[in-house]
Amino acid sequence: MPHIIEPASSGRAKCRSCDKPIAKGELRFGERQPNAFGDGEMTLWFHLPCAAYSRPEPFLELQGTAPPDANLESLAAAAHFGLEHRRVPRLHGAERATSGRAHCRSCRELIGKGEWRLALVFFEEYRFNPGGYIHAQCAREYFETTDLMDRIKHFSAELGDDDLAQIAAALAAPRAAQ
Ligand SMILES: [Zn+2]
Ligand SMILES: [Zn+2]
Repeated sequence: MPHIIEPASSGRAKCRSCDKPIAKGELRFGERQPNAFGDGEMTLWFHLPCAAYSRPEPFLELQGTAPPDANLESLAAAAHFGLEHRRVPRLHGAERATSGRAHCRSCRELIGKGEWRLALVFFEEYRFNPGGYIHAQCAREYFETTDLMDRIKHFSAELGDDDLAQIAAALAAPRAAQ
């Protein structure tokens, strides 16, 4: 069966990407995959923005079959951006480093406690697995773009305006230049 967008029939399904519930009646994206555990197919459910950000290829395969009220233009643009910048769909939000023990996946140096870091995930075997962190300042090197704030706001909705301003400043200040 093809991928689908439809209103959620209950509020019980969780989004495969952000792990938060999808509200009853909210439009959701269903990615069809061969059933890993037997015959037939299974459906991975996503919030629409989570699908556009995290699963751009299947999301764009859906074009033309969505309900007209899904307002897909900006989401499709976000998905195309993820295809053009192949590592960008790995981005899963920003936070201050809770310890000083993780190494940056881009520059390989330690990320100091309290520094802004960007979280990475890898989609493997139908799940998003934690893939480590990079310095916010290493974003340009790693993602080949710094046009990332919409995704950071989406996946780290708890961040305030001050936090977002600090992250934006870090994205604009590559470590190599420090
Ligand atoms: Zn989600
Ligand atoms: Zn780094």
